[in-house]
Amino acid sequence: MDALNLPAPQGKPRIVVIGGGFGGLNFVHALDTRHYQVVLLDQYNYHTFAPLLYQVATAGLDAPDICGALRKSFRSKKDFHFRMLRVRGIDDGAQEVLTEAGSIHYDQLVLATGTRANFFGNDKLAAHALPLKTVPQARQLRHHLFQTLERADLTDDPAERSSLMTFVIVGGGPSGVELAGALSELRRHVLQRDYPDTDTDHLRFILVEGGDQLLAQFSDKSSDDALRNLEEMNIELWFGKLIADYDGRTATFKDGSTLHTHTVIWGAGVTGEVIEGLSDKSAEKGHYLIDDHMRVREYQNVYAIGDVAYLTSDKWLQGHPGVAQVAIQMGQRLAKNFNALAKNKETQPFEYFDKGNLAIIGRNRAVADLPGGIHLNGFPAWFIWAVVHIFYLIGFRNRLFTFLSWVGNYITYNRSVRLVIEPTLEEELREAHTPATP
Ligand SMILES: Cc1cc2nc3c(=O)[nH]c(=O)nc-3n(C[C@H](O)[C@H](O)[C@H](O)COP(=O)(O)OP(=O)(O)OC[C@H]3O[C@@H](n4cnc5c(N)ncnc54)[C@H](O)[C@@H]3O)c2cc1C
Repeated sequence: MDALNLPAPQGKPRIVVIGGGFGGLNFVHALDTRHYQVVLLDQYNYHTFAPLLYQVATAGLDAPDICGALRKSFRSKKDFHFRMLRVRGIDDGAQEVLTEAGSIHYDQLVLATGTRANFFGNDKLAAHALPLKTVPQARQLRHHLFQTLERADLTDDPAERSSLMTFVIVGGGPSGVELAGALSELRRHVLQRDYPDTDTDHLRFILVEGGDQLLAQFSDKSSDDALRNLEEMNIELWFGKLIADYDGRTATFKDGSTLHTHTVIWGAGVTGEVIEGLSDKSAEKGHYLIDDHMRVREYQNVYAIGDVAYLTSDKWLQGHPGVAQVAIQMGQRLAKNFNALAKNKETQPFEYFDKGNLAIIGRNRAVADLPGGIHLNGFPAWFIWAVVHIFYLIGFRNRLFTFLSWVGNYITYNRSVRLVIEPTLEEELREAHTPATP
């Protein structure tokens, strides 16, 4: 046995993969482990289907519906080993990955660590704004949302109530648009009935975008359709506004204006999860610089795939988009190249096949830019979105249960997971001040 209870690789090269997201998962699936030992490390023991995080945040789905257990995904894969660990560093000289539980030797290293929210060094914003990148964050957001509404129902101070009932979403990309749409539907179909003593018409959802359009990576048609849909759904859209600060109660914008709100949801910026220890020349602006074989600059045996990697091409002069398909295709191409190398065959450069863009805005409301310049809006786009997302969910249980939850919600408008189960602030304070019984 090697460190961390890992079996020795028995003469095969050991590939260590950090990150079981879209990139890491697809890499491991496609790798031929007759030729390699593969060790997958992730801080969580599940894969997160991020495109549905907003559904968890707005009580449409429960967390297990969008997660797949990593060990279960690979239980029939030979010489596959999973360890639930957060990687703290890399020692490139010794070829070791460093964790709090010990270090692991690698022959080849694959970095598939994705991104995290970027608050551009603003600690106050980081402390008070709510990001939506992980399952714990989605649950925290849902908890905050319903607790804030409960508090609004308790207060008779109009200013406090207005602040509690104002929700700001920062960033007009796909996550901001999808979340704004879902919040509007929640207001219309659930909150109006659940909170009869609160005037839910006064609930404000404000989408703040620094640029002058929504869904900037989509076609102009999709961008315009998204705008029209959100306006119809009573989402306030503020363009050309940049948030400068937020202390948990007051948001201050770069133009000096302020807004009182108990909620700022952060969807404006991300940075790659770059791990300490590789050469300074290997990463720039929070991303690993890779060549078309996904090799990290300065290294022959270190690769990066997915959101954490930066690769330009003739078609993608500003780098490839940070979407699941890029990560999936990079993971698959890299595994095929390793399989080819093991058989002394030629490797192929990465070439992205763009399957288009989809964003859901609400019930029967979505936009789709498909290959061949085809643009869809409304029910057809919504239907394609639903089929694609169910198809890509991993695991039969997820697909079946998520599908049933959706159909149930679609027919009844009922959102079953809107309970505030975590302790309230008041309960936490009370428990902290209750003397222990002798
Ligand atoms: C709210 C939201 C909505 C989205 N919607 C869409 C959409 O509709 N369509 C689309 O195509 N894309 C969407 N995306 C983007 C898509 O999720 C990403 O492009 C994709 O997840 C990238 O895959 P990845 O493998 O690079 O990283 P990820 O899927 O983020 O996986 C990274 C993994 O690395 C692990 N990790 C990170 N650091 C460490 C460490 N130090 N030690 C151990 N483990 C570590 C993480 O736990 C995680 O499991 C969305 C993203 C978000 C956040």
